[in-house]
Amino acid sequence: MVEIIVAVLVVGGLAVLPIAGLIIQVWRDHRGKRRNAQGRCYACGGSGFLLPLAHYKGATFNYCVACFQRQRRMSTMTGLVAAGVLVAGLCAWLIVREL
Ligand SMILES: [Zn+2]
Repeated sequence: MVEIIVAVLVVGGLAVLPIAGLIIQVWRDHRGKRRNAQGRCYACGGSGFLLPLAHYKGATFNYCVACFQRQRRMSTMTGLVAAGVLVAGLCAWLIVREL
């Protein structure tokens, strides 16, 4: 019985993260689209020179120079973190399989 509760908690905890991420993403997209429509930066809402940046979903949004550079760095970091999680997951699976 305890094992089931622990399993439910672990699976639930893992499921909450992507859902929370998705909600934040939808909210940011909504806010960013409104800002872009007003000729302002997607991320910070600042006006000035804007650069187009393609999101992984295919849509392109306009960023100011500072946010453009930060966003580029962030997407590189996100890619590295995702690769790290994938490798860690693979290692965990291999270890569990050996037991
Ligand atoms: Zn900005």
